[in-house]
Amino acid sequence: MASHGSYPLLRIAIVGGGPGGLATAIALSKIPNIDVTVYEQAMVLREVGAGISIGENSWNVLGLLGVADSLTGGHTTLTVLQFNGRTGEELHRFEKPKTSARLPIRTQRTTLQSTLLSHVPQGRIKLQKKLIGLQDLGRAGVRLRFADDTFAEADLVVGADGIRSIVRDSAWESYELKFTGTTIWRTLLPVEEVKDLDPSFQTTGWWHGPTTHVYFSPVGEGLWEIAARAWQDPSVHSASKKTWGVPVANEVIESNFTEFLPDIREALRRVPKGSWREFAAFAGPELPDLTAWDNKIVLVGDSSHALSGAFGSGAGFAMEDGYVIAQALKFSHNDVNQALPLFNNIRLPYYSKMYAHLDSEAKRRALNLQRLQNPSYDERVRNKLVQPGGQSMQWLYGNHIGRVWEEHVAGAAVADSRRAELDSIRHPNVYLEEDKTNSLQEKQVVLA
Ligand SMILES: Cc1cc2nc3c(=O)[nH]c(=O)nc-3n(C[C@H](O)[C@H](O)[C@H](O)COP(=O)(O)OP(=O)(O)OC[C@H]3O[C@@H](n4cnc5c(N)ncnc54)[C@H](O)[C@@H]3O)c2cc1C
Repeated sequence: MASHGSYPLLRIAIVGGGPGGLATAIALSKIPNIDVTVYEQAMVLREVGAGISIGENSWNVLGLLGVADSLTGGHTTLTVLQFNGRTGEELHRFEKPKTSARLPIRTQRTTLQSTLLSHVPQGRIKLQKKLIGLQDLGRAGVRLRFADDTFAEADLVVGADGIRSIVRDSAWESYELKFTGTTIWRTLLPVEEVKDLDPSFQTTGWWHGPTTHVYFSPVGEGLWEIAARAWQDPSVHSASKKTWGVPVANEVIESNFTEFLPDIREALRRVPKGSWREFAAFAGPELPDLTAWDNKIVLVGDSSHALSGAFGSGAGFAMEDGYVIAQALKFSHNDVNQALPLFNNIRLPYYSKMYAHLDSEAKRRALNLQRLQNPSYDERVRNKLVQPGGQSMQWLYGNHIGRVWEEHVAGAAVADSRRAELDSIRHPNVYLEEDKTNSLQEKQVVLA
């Protein structure tokens, strides 16, 4: 291991204390000579929302962060069901393979949040610090301005401030989020409250209408989750960007599921008043670069790919981002000019693949609907789940970010040695003398 002396001091400000910000702080705390501070707007660090799925990809990164063993409880989700919400017909049953010792779970978002928090070194998080703007100070770094009229300076700002990111808005001024048409409502209630209803409610499952669904799942600790969605044409309907985790009346949700089975409507009726939260889903285009201001800004998690939770695994992606940034900084001895391009090379194609996937699936569904001509309610429901021709999603849900990192570095090392060979043929001696200590091959030894 190199001494601290070979790692110049780097001041890193992480904006946002969600899964991305906390995971990045944990990963960076293992790198020498990094002075990291997390700035979070909330008064108390707790997640709004209900449940969250932790699958193979998320377990992998939690393991690398040293957090996995602390995340206990939750409800095992080896079986996942899909139903027609009006008829109750089972449309699909997915039995997940037991590929690793840690089984997929649905747990409370607060459980993930508090587990991550317990691994962030003390004194690193500043609460009630709402970022309102950034200023590029050139070689001196970046100045952060907060709503309480205080300032901070950093060499690198990590934008982990979610889909409505101020960091992204500051550095990518023309970036625009648009309402997708989807509104999401989420709540938790005691599992006892619904025990007398359809026994299928005790297995994680979706109940679909053509443009709506309800999702039911136990989340462990005696709690049960409902996440409901409805889509309305965004060219006709709009939503406020501020609608994120706001309370909403029960009648609003119930009115969207009047054609659903009586037991589903009864479950919705049993939600205590005041406990539903509404989230308007916004999304934005793919970014061509996750870094800005000459490698002084980098985006992680939802701020970097505004896909509105499209794959139900965004917390996992955010934590993977944090892990990769830390590895890249360690590898490059805190040199942001080497580390951030590495981060980009690994994460940009991954997010690009997600955008391409969503695009091709949307086209496939639209084409199917066209072929059906005047499809019935049930045909439209089935079309939402079309499987034939669907791509395997193992590249995403089975992602092992540790292996991705190692393969990327090994690939870079091979490319580097080829370049060295070519250079030494063209300019004998020059490469060896100039670039000996910077060779990627050598740095790989530091990594191991
Ligand atoms: C309905 C729905 C269901 C989902 N289900 C799953 C799931 O099952 N599994 C999964 O892995 N993911 C799921 N996701 C996605 C997941 O919630 C997000 O991808 C994940 O939370 C992103 O983490 P993040 O840290 O990037 O951002 P966030 O979790 O949004 O955290 C951002 C943090 O930044 C803070 N912040 C924002 N602005 C500022 C500011 N100006 N100054 C300071 N602090 C600020 C916020 O208060 C917050 O704490 C779901 C998303 C949705 C919408």
